[in-house]
Amino acid sequence: MASFFSDNEDLRYYFEKGIPWEEIVEVTELLYRQPGAFKDARDAVGAYKDVLDLVGEIAAERVAPHAKEIDRQGVGFKDGEAFFHPRMQSIFDELRSIEIHGLCLPRELGGQNCPLTVFFLMSELLARADISVMAHNSFHGPIAMAMLVYSLAEGTTEIDPALGKITQTRFAKQMEEIRTGSAWGSMDITEPDAGSDMAALRTVAEQDAAGNWLVSGEKIFITSGHGKYHFVIARTIGSAKKDGLGGLSMFLVEAYEDRADGSRVRKVSLDRIEEKIGHHGSATAALTFDRAPALLVGKVGEGFKYMLTLMNNARIGVGFESIGISEAAYRLARAYAAERRSMGKTIDRHEMIADYLDEMETDILGVRAMAVSSAIHQEIAFKTNLLIDQGFFTDAEEIERRKRLAKRHKHHARRLTPLLKYLAAEKAVEIARRCVQIHGGVGYTKEFLAEKLLRDALVLPIYEGTSQIQSLMAMKDTLTSAMTRPSRFARRVATARLRAASARDPLERRVARLQSLSLSAQQHLLTQTARDKYRSIKSKPLSEWRDFLKSWDPKRDFTYAMLHAERLTRLLADEAIAEILLDQSRQHAERREILERHLERAEPRARYLHEQITTPQPGVLSRIAHAEADGASRKTA
Ligand SMILES: Cc1cc2nc3c(=O)[nH]c(=O)nc-3n(C[C@H](O)[C@H](O)[C@H](O)COP(=O)(O)OP(=O)(O)OC[C@H]3O[C@@H](n4cnc5c(N)ncnc54)[C@H](O)[C@@H]3O)c2cc1C
Repeated sequence: MASFFSDNEDLRYYFEKGIPWEEIVEVTELLYRQPGAFKDARDAVGAYKDVLDLVGEIAAERVAPHAKEIDRQGVGFKDGEAFFHPRMQSIFDELRSIEIHGLCLPRELGGQNCPLTVFFLMSELLARADISVMAHNSFHGPIAMAMLVYSLAEGTTEIDPALGKITQTRFAKQMEEIRTGSAWGSMDITEPDAGSDMAALRTVAEQDAAGNWLVSGEKIFITSGHGKYHFVIARTIGSAKKDGLGGLSMFLVEAYEDRADGSRVRKVSLDRIEEKIGHHGSATAALTFDRAPALLVGKVGEGFKYMLTLMNNARIGVGFESIGISEAAYRLARAYAAERRSMGKTIDRHEMIADYLDEMETDILGVRAMAVSSAIHQEIAFKTNLLIDQGFFTDAEEIERRKRLAKRHKHHARRLTPLLKYLAAEKAVEIARRCVQIHGGVGYTKEFLAEKLLRDALVLPIYEGTSQIQSLMAMKDTLTSAMTRPSRFARRVATARLRAASARDPLERRVARLQSLSLSAQQHLLTQTARDKYRSIKSKPLSEWRDFLKSWDPKRDFTYAMLHAERLTRLLADEAIAEILLDQSRQHAERREILERHLERAEPRARYLHEQITTPQPGVLSRIAHAEADGASRKTA
């Protein structure tokens, strides 16, 4: 039987050697270990493999062959309700029958207590088969997990560390409905006038005389928004802080109630299902909330904080989704190129096409390295912190050791996530476009899947934070860290230079040279950005510079670096991939070839990006400054 898991050598490498399962099993099983726990890590990993084998087969045999049909049929909409066509419905009936929606939920809540890393790998398999199936599936289990995580954060879930078991949790009923496949949820943030700019959100929540919360406003582009449970971000009327991000709160809204007589009472109206260029099988909903009853999650004003809690997971999810599409496009292109003949040979023997295919595969291997690494760091950091918070460790030394470990993993996850979201999404679009190109004329027809993959891929750099927003995050984090810890930055520069010159392993020298280029670009951006500020404090003694660095405001002070944020992000992503692959090749010699392939592509790219970043481009910034000055003078006039 075909399987998208077993036919993928790179995925198998990660599963068999590249994932520290013992550590992941430990934090996963310590948390919720009763009943039905595994004998040991080996037993657990055997069960995870069974899940991936099964989903790999479903993806290859029962989803992928119907991808065109799902795309053609889309989602139905009638009398204010959306519905799936039979093919999509039958796929979800099958996923429900294998209890996939409870994959990561704790056992005492009816789940299988699998690590999130397994969910992410599964997402790649489904996305390779059909993106809409993967997208809709992501609004089942992960929304139930969000309910649990939010409830833990607000203190309405109780875990007994001695039993390793949840004894009480706030959203048990909702999680059960999702686990059994009779409901799913969504994350409702975007509005007509607020997407990237969350501070501009206008949906409001107010309390009635009895203290019940009611939400009113419009939300658009909500994936799987035809579902029952909506996490809604709204501005809380009457709270002390009502503007900006601090004025936002998180609510859980039940969009409808199904009565015993089969009728449905809607509390939130489903206005339409968007007509999109891709993701046809996934419902993208526009909704109106008109004093819809809501449950406050956490405290008033904590909405943005709660959204951030799960943002990393969602973005890592898009990373794996992007790899799924990229893998589908690469394999389709490779198969076509091996058959199609031109000028006396198959087109995969023509240099440019061979180069395309090689780069597509190299990019997928690199992005997957970053995705798996992000997933591992995120999972260990998150669960270790939860174990500490829930009192699972009593020995003071052990607690300190675990805290340090969680901090290290969190740092890596935070660094890698925007790079992954950015690069995976951008590469998926590039790889899907090349797939169309390699197909020539038929690539532009509906006969082959190539055009569908490109249409589907185009949204990846838009949702879950656009590529530009990821770039801003990566740039601000990187430069702020260098500004606030200059001696550490200087040490990194020196170490990279030393390794570039003297490391024994030639691959390590090349990775160090890449790091040096990246650090040099960062240094240039810092110098340029800080120039005006430095001028103003030139006369001050060095001892006062610390205070100056404290007053650093990323929003105001990074104007120059913002111009180059995307270029820097590409450079940082190439550097991160090289570091991860170097680490892998130290443990597994077979990974050296992949690192070499990555470096062959990344080195000239890094030199070009460095050149672009360090070449003065006063034009754009001065045009923005003029436009802003014009606008300001018109306002005063
Ligand atoms: C198929 C689909 C599914 C979606 N699913 C969901 C969902 O489930 N839930 C949900 O809440 N939303 C969802 N969205 C919405 C999505 O998250 C937003 O479209 C996205 O955040 C961008 O917001 P926007 O469309 O308002 O664009 P804008 O924010 O107006 O951005 C327009 C352009 O300007 C750029 N830009 C904006 N600000 C800056 C800046 N400071 N610097 C540089 N460039 C900037 C952006 O990168 C973008 O290129 C979905 C969208 C689509 C298309």
